[in-house]
Amino acid sequence: MAAIGSSTQRNIVILGGSYGGISIAHYVLKHVIPKLPTPETYKVILVSKASEALCRPACPRALVSDSLLPHEKIFANIPNQFLQYQSMNFQFIRGTVSDLDHTNRIVRISLADSEPVETLNFHAVVIANGASTHSPLLGLTGNEGKLKADWASFREALTFAKSIVIAGGGPSGIEVAGELGEYLNGRAGVFDSNLKAPNVPISVVTSSSKILPRLRSGIADKAERYLAEVGVSVIKGTSIKTVAPETAGTKDVTKKAVITLDNGNVLEADLYIPAFGTVPNTGFIDRSLLSTDGRVKTEPGTLRVDKAGPRIYAIGDASSWARPAVHNILDAVPVLGANLRRDLLLATALRDIVIEGDKTFKEDTREMQLVPIGTSKGVGAVMGWQLPSWLVWLMKGRDYWLWTTNSLWNGRKWSTP
Ligand SMILES: Cc1cc2nc3c(=O)[nH]c(=O)nc-3n(C[C@H](O)[C@H](O)[C@H](O)COP(=O)(O)OP(=O)(O)OC[C@H]3O[C@@H](n4cnc5c(N)ncnc54)[C@H](O)[C@@H]3O)c2cc1C
Repeated sequence: MAAIGSSTQRNIVILGGSYGGISIAHYVLKHVIPKLPTPETYKVILVSKASEALCRPACPRALVSDSLLPHEKIFANIPNQFLQYQSMNFQFIRGTVSDLDHTNRIVRISLADSEPVETLNFHAVVIANGASTHSPLLGLTGNEGKLKADWASFREALTFAKSIVIAGGGPSGIEVAGELGEYLNGRAGVFDSNLKAPNVPISVVTSSSKILPRLRSGIADKAERYLAEVGVSVIKGTSIKTVAPETAGTKDVTKKAVITLDNGNVLEADLYIPAFGTVPNTGFIDRSLLSTDGRVKTEPGTLRVDKAGPRIYAIGDASSWARPAVHNILDAVPVLGANLRRDLLLATALRDIVIEGDKTFKEDTREMQLVPIGTSKGVGAVMGWQLPSWLVWLMKGRDYWLWTTNSLWNGRKWSTP
């Protein structure tokens, strides 16, 4: 077992290279380390399984075809985004975190290519490992190579598929259904409410009484009408009892599946996509620090993980602090950053400096979700206001937020604190 870093270096270790991890890394390098008495002794070490960041919301369209979104914009090389900082203050490690020992303040990392486990001591740590989807097509459950390979095999299988079943009526399931429906079936004419004989019938199965549970019924009903226009039908109030073989849609994204529903009906699908729920990537964290849903118990105002010890924080889908969504992460980054700066200054034991009080985060819980349905339509609400389809297209549907990610990955978004 090898150790990374010198004994005098104070490591600010950030786990996970996505919206939470990359944003907080830039923030710390721009607004925290320069404010500390000895900046040269602090180093941000960002650890992630993949060396590329992913615009995750773009997955529902990216998985369908190579040509619908520019691939060079969906992924961004992480180390390149940090070349702007001095190397004494930043390091990227591509590896899988296998243990967070919060008592001894150590993380253990398995590096790629089955090298020995490395240990890394930390002065501060930010847990930003996010959450995985059951379908590997919807995020970086492994590294970027694995995701690109899964998309490629899925797209090949798509050319032969005669039926598709999607599990989950949340935004991921509905977006995937809309993209696949429009791509494979086209869209019904303006005077038709649904596509009479779709090339590839697509079914969405949800145990809820309506799709898009976070949006009001009127918006969910509109989404269902848009889905019918592209050959997607919705089976509501029904759970999936079994999927055979079990690996269909998870380990093998191209396997045919037999899906048994709790009402006794059986669906056969050439392709099956489990697009319901997520599993927090927190298996390497002591269970005493986790809530019942597997997320890290985080103080919602300060983003500290109080039970774990000093200077330990969590943000994003791995944390219990707020609803998993990019806008919440972006609102919370300056709060976490300011509180980290305060905690680091307090730890210097210098008594002649003015240290600001805590900053606190307050989640905006108003109805807020945008759901494109194919390349030209969509439903949603922002701050409690329902948006027309064209505005959903303009904000999200035209490129699934790719217009926003550049400044996030390169840190320009955090130019001011
Ligand atoms: C299909 C889909 C569409 C979405 N659309 C939207 C949307 O339109 N708007 C919105 O606000 N939100 C959307 N979301 C939610 C949004 O993507 C998440 O809230 C966001 O990605 C969470 O970011 P994160 O930084 O917490 O972690 P994640 O994006 O989950 O990334 C975690 C990172 O940590 C890495 N990692 C995990 N475990 C380890 C480990 N043990 N060691 C090292 N690295 C590890 C992963 O490889 C990954 O790079 C969508 C989610 C999905 C699945």
